[in-house]
This record gives sequence, structure tokens and C-alpha cells, in this order.
Amino acid sequence: MSQTVLRGLFAASLLLLLGVVAASVISKQAASEGERPPAVFMCRESSEIFYGASQVSPAVHPVTDRATLLQAVYCPQCEVWQPAPPADRLYKNPQGLLCPKCQTPRTFTGELPADATEL
Ligand SMILES: [Zn+2]
Repeated sequence: MSQTVLRGLFAASLLLLLGVVAASVISKQAASEGERPPAVFMCRESSEIFYGASQVSPAVHPVTDRATLLQAVYCPQCEVWQPAPPADRLYKNPQGLLCPKCQTPRTFTGELPADATEL
């Protein structure tokens, strides 16, 4: 093989490598941009706050192994997490997302308490 062909092969493989690196960087960026905030759950027995990947409510408590973790909603006015109304009730009555105390619309995201546990 001539020197020129070897150089050409080297350049081509270098370009291929750069392409692979660039593609993996781009796909990693896309994954983190697509990341959703963690779902927040409140134990209906202990009122402990948990957060983690979205899952069916009630979720299983990691210590007691019982399905007592209800999806939680946050009231920015009262600055508290409260158990969310059941999805079927929310569907019929979107006002269910209003805080029963101050009537502020509650959200599924908010400031997590310092003692919140990751699921
Ligand atoms: Zn409130």
C-alpha cells in the first residue's frame, strides 16, 4: 500500500471516530433535556415525602413494602406537599387541584423537603 492510501485510511477512520463521539455526545444531551422532574409521593400513613421515577400511585413504600405512597401535589402558597386527589376525580373536577386551604392551584412539581427520600 502506498503512503497516500494509508494516510487516506487514517484520515477516514479518524473522521469516523469523531462522528461516533459527536453522536454519543448529542444523544446524551438529548436524553438529559428530555428528563422529567421526579414524581413526588406522600406516604398516607407517615406523611413522609418520596421522589423518583414516575410510577403508578399508590406506590410501594420501600420500608414497609405496602402500597401507601400517594402521588403528591405542591401548594406554592402554603409551601406544603399534599396527597393528590385520585386521577379519576381530577378528570371529572379539575378544581380538585386547587389547595383546599387557600384555593391556590397546586402543581406536581415544587420544592422537595430536605428529608425527602429517593425511591
Ligand atoms: Zn394552599
